[in-house]
Amino acid sequence: MDQHPEILDGYKPASVERAVAALRAGDVVAFPTETVYGLGADALNSSGVAKIFEMKKRPRFDPLIVHIGQKEWLSSFTKEVPPEAQKLIDRFWPGPLTIILEKQPAISDLVTAGLRTVAIRMPSHPVALNLINSLGKPIAAPSANPFGYMSATRAAHVARMFENKLSFVLDGGPCSFGLESTIVAIKDRQVFVRRYGAVSLEDLRDLVGEVHEKMKHGTVDSPGQLPYHYAPHRPLVIIETPDEVKSSASSVLLFRTPSKMPVSKRMRILSPHGDLREAAANFFSYLIELDREDVDIIYAEQIPEIGLGKAMMERLKKAEKKAFRQPVDNVRNPVVS
Ligand code: AMP
Ligand code: MG
Repeated sequence: MDQHPEILDGYKPASVERAVAALRAGDVVAFPTETVYGLGADALNSSGVAKIFEMKKRPRFDPLIVHIGQKEWLSSFTKEVPPEAQKLIDRFWPGPLTIILEKQPAISDLVTAGLRTVAIRMPSHPVALNLINSLGKPIAAPSANPFGYMSATRAAHVARMFENKLSFVLDGGPCSFGLESTIVAIKDRQVFVRRYGAVSLEDLRDLVGEVHEKMKHGTVDSPGQLPYHYAPHRPLVIIETPDEVKSSASSVLLFRTPSKMPVSKRMRILSPHGDLREAAANFFSYLIELDREDVDIIYAEQIPEIGLGKAMMERLKKAEKKAFRQPVDNVRNPVVS
């Protein structure tokens, strides 16, 4: 039986050739990165980039991240690279850190939603790097999920989310980080976090000292920080301990193995021993699986807000906020004004 989309082994040269041909033709390709799966187009091809927005139903004011294959490409697409940015690049590239820099005209306004700046990173996933370098051009790619939903970290999840909208997905295995890249901007030699992600604040501070956390919610300055990003379809409630699970018509995301298992239809443990890195790698895929269950509510155990836990908790809080925005009968203590 035909599978739509097909899942192709991203490590096979024939798969990459097919993906490069599609990109050259101005089509969109789903590919793995170490953070989450991406939905990419040739960053210099406006009609390809426009297709990404259509497929994701993403508002045009929400700019895309540009993925480069080599650090040397940076100067072709950005203007000045401040010393702080260079330091971050030397330490974190290739890897899950996106840096916002002044853009060169080669990058279309569609990619950057008309901003003077471009968000750029060099991924470390071998399939992503091979794809970009085989194309020989940067790939503009947001996460491979419908706008507002959780990011896919497995090829099979991308395939389900874009059934009949993609002809294939390059499979590079489960994403090793499992969270979106951390986004930083540099202003007046100061580093500002624009999105919490796969590089922790602690790691950034170890390198550059002070890092500012002030984020402007919902403005074009940080559109990915819209208040209802990353949310499952079912209402989600954060719990302090597994004892708070009252309804069995629920699914439960636990941070670590509890002493007593709650009664619910389906459960997932992010990391039996409470390892944040392991938890992050499982985070979206488990939530997506739990969201598919026929349940009234998803309970999610709180995660310590240190290291990668901060990025995960931020996503859970946004999901919870979305649930409370709409009056939902089964949500405990709805705070609906
Ligand atoms: P996604 O690719 O889905 O992870 O989302 C990319 C996010 O990167 C956007 O939602 C923005 O928050 C951020 N971004 C991209 N370009 C810029 C830019 N030029 N300035 C500020 N933020 C940006
Ligand atoms: Mg996204």
